[in-house]
Amino acid sequence: MIPELDHPTFRLAVAQFDQVAEAMNLDTNLRERLKTPQRSLLVALPIRMDDGNVRVFQGYRVQHDSARGPSKGGLRYHQDVSLGEVAALAMWMTWKTALAGLPYGGAKGGVTVDPHTLSLAELERLTRRYAAEIFPLIGPDKDIPATDIGTNQQVMAWFMDTYSQQVGFAVPGAVTGKPQSIGGSLGREEATGRGVVNVTIEALRRKGINLEDTSVVIQGIGNVGSHTAKIFNEAGARVIGISDVTGGLFNPKGLPIDDVLQRRRSGLPLRDIKAGDHLTNDELLTQECTVLVPAALSEQITGNNAERLRCRILTEAANGPTTMEADAILNDRDVFIIPDILANSGGVIVSYFEWVQDVQRFFWNERDIRQRLHTIITSAFHRTLHFAEKKNTTMRTAALMNGIDQVAQAHTARGLYP
Ligand code: GLU
Repeated sequence: MIPELDHPTFRLAVAQFDQVAEAMNLDTNLRERLKTPQRSLLVALPIRMDDGNVRVFQGYRVQHDSARGPSKGGLRYHQDVSLGEVAALAMWMTWKTALAGLPYGGAKGGVTVDPHTLSLAELERLTRRYAAEIFPLIGPDKDIPATDIGTNQQVMAWFMDTYSQQVGFAVPGAVTGKPQSIGGSLGREEATGRGVVNVTIEALRRKGINLEDTSVVIQGIGNVGSHTAKIFNEAGARVIGISDVTGGLFNPKGLPIDDVLQRRRSGLPLRDIKAGDHLTNDELLTQECTVLVPAALSEQITGNNAERLRCRILTEAANGPTTMEADAILNDRDVFIIPDILANSGGVIVSYFEWVQDVQRFFWNERDIRQRLHTIITSAFHRTLHFAEKKNTTMRTAALMNGIDQVAQAHTARGLYP
């Protein structure tokens, strides 16, 4: 690994890859290539702050692979964003898009900033400057950004506008996760959460557990966590725990999800919402439940808490929430893990729908989008399950093997340039 990429999250992505590459006996020439991102761009973003001073933020865009098509992946605005983290997330996007059968490679971008500390005007200037700086790398046929932690529809709208201003005409297919008024897709905002629920229902069926008897704990109440909670609640499961940065809210009888989400939207932290007991993050993760859904940052389930988890199914809505050590412990304890590259792929699947609609200038209704998402994600789930059972391996290994194999086949078919 080149020293510039050294970071715990990149080490996790590479360790997963090494383990699976060994198990599938992957061509050694391809191993080195697939461990190193194809392109990494670092950009300095000087931004005029509202007080008149200029601050320079650090931005990144990493394209891990583009053998199967344009690279695809979100933009993260978070104070801990670094090159190594973005590279790990880009690598996971490559396996994720391949596993879902989307004609994309993997990428990710980000800016090291806590977006909550910026005014709306500062956020706009930062986004526009970032879009202008990474402009040479992106485009609907090259690399298509989308939302991720800390970014939203408005950020994508500014991004799309900046890109379009550079080329001189509207290019809706340059980003996904946009507002509908400029080519966004119905169902994109809820897509990751809906996919999380779709695959969890398949796992519950497999285990013979009814939705009505299912309790769910969700770590994180951002876009993914809140839609996951809402859709599980509508489907008839009991959401008993949820958390934000101020800690967890827990009620074994079930939380009034619509009410909690409504109050959160009005700006109240969970700490100030009286609908259950207030727990620490560690207490929340270790509550007894049928399904635990980490929907926040990476490396949350570790050697320190894996032994104490009391869930039957772990649905990884976040990217990289489980360390290698925790993964081994949970496998020994027979916890059924739906790995991130499968569990959270609903987001990029509907991003693909958005891009297809933009490129074709022909838009679909919500029912079609939900149905097509369900078809793609549940068939990826069953393909993975079938493979895992046949090879007597875990869902994570099966999902990674499938994704990596698709990418390896594309590289072998295309050959090495020059
Ligand atoms: N940021 C999301 C992810 O990690 C979605 C990426 C996309 O839609 O391109 O999968």
